[in-house]
Amino acid sequence: MTRSRTRPDEGSNGGVIEQYYHVVCHDCRVESLEVNAEDAREMADRHDEKTGHSVTVGRL
Ligand SMILES: [Zn+2]
Repeated sequence: MTRSRTRPDEGSNGGVIEQYYHVVCHDCRVESLEVNAEDAREMADRHDEKTGHSVTVGRL
């Protein structure tokens, strides 16, 4: 199945597209949306250190 990458609401903000980072823990329900890559990484690292859970950071 093919999916178009073009979104209808794109370009409404003068071409400025914000990047979001989705922090998700696979071992509990911790989940967070960050706009800063470093913040997202730090959050994932901290949770991993504290709990030993498996946390991933995905780009949206
Ligand atoms: Zn967790």
